[in-house]
Amino acid sequence: MTAQHNDVDTTQEFLDSMPELKQGEKFQFACHPGVACFNACCSDLRMPLSPYDVLQLRQETGQGSEGFIKAFTRVETYPNTNFPILYMKMTDGPARTCPFVSQAGCQVYPHRSAACRTYPLGRATRVDNGELVEQYFIIAEQHCHGFSEEPVWTSAEWLQDQELIPYNHFGDRYTRLMARAIEKEMVLSQKQLTLCLLALYELDRFGDFIQGVNLFARLNVPEEEQQRILENEEARLSFGLDWVELVLFGDNERLQVVNP
Ligand code: SF4
Ligand code: SF4
Repeated sequence: MTAQHNDVDTTQEFLDSMPELKQGEKFQFACHPGVACFNACCSDLRMPLSPYDVLQLRQETGQGSEGFIKAFTRVETYPNTNFPILYMKMTDGPARTCPFVSQAGCQVYPHRSAACRTYPLGRATRVDNGELVEQYFIIAEQHCHGFSEEPVWTSAEWLQDQELIPYNHFGDRYTRLMARAIEKEMVLSQKQLTLCLLALYELDRFGDFIQGVNLFARLNVPEEEQQRILENEEARLSFGLDWVELVLFGDNERLQVVNP
């Protein structure tokens, strides 16, 4: 998922118009408070937030999911599948800045979203014969002075430096779920959409739901894993992705119904 300024076209077309950064190829880049354009890229963005982005940002702000989603996001749906996709809500007013930017920079830097971490690269993924294929592109925007700064990076080095591995891991699992829906020409009903929002974006409420309906009584989840899912929201998101797949498609490689 890639953040775009609002005057730019949709993600895939936008990335296709950018130079591809092939595996092993290098680009020069650094961003720091000394660049003349500092903070210039943190406004007027159409910035998607994956379930893992929302989890990280919500924990940073200390808010419950309901309050966070209402205050900081706009909920939309993917056109072909009706899967939920959240976007960061820019502030009102002519500058339309990200709610987390300040003169000193990003106030949620350690928890910033995957799109913020990936920039100035864009990452496109597609599922091809069951395999996830990724491509990187250089988003060379004119206002960005970072390309004149040392050092140089490959995409793999950039990913490591920006701690993107868990972000991409969870993002890719969501992509696979949607790829499966597209393959089956499935369009989520309102009830299924609500369920996706609960299990993927509202993890605090999902914890209450799991206990309220005694969900583990019907599933093959080992006891110590049950505890981890209830205590740790990252483990809960992982479980949520499996459970949504089980509910929508009737099967999942890790999760089975034991007491139908
Ligand atoms: S989250 Fe931080 S880095 Fe990302 S757009 Fe907002 S202020 Fe900028
Ligand atoms: S425009 Fe580029 S160099 Fe300037 S703050 Fe944004 S990422 Fe950094």
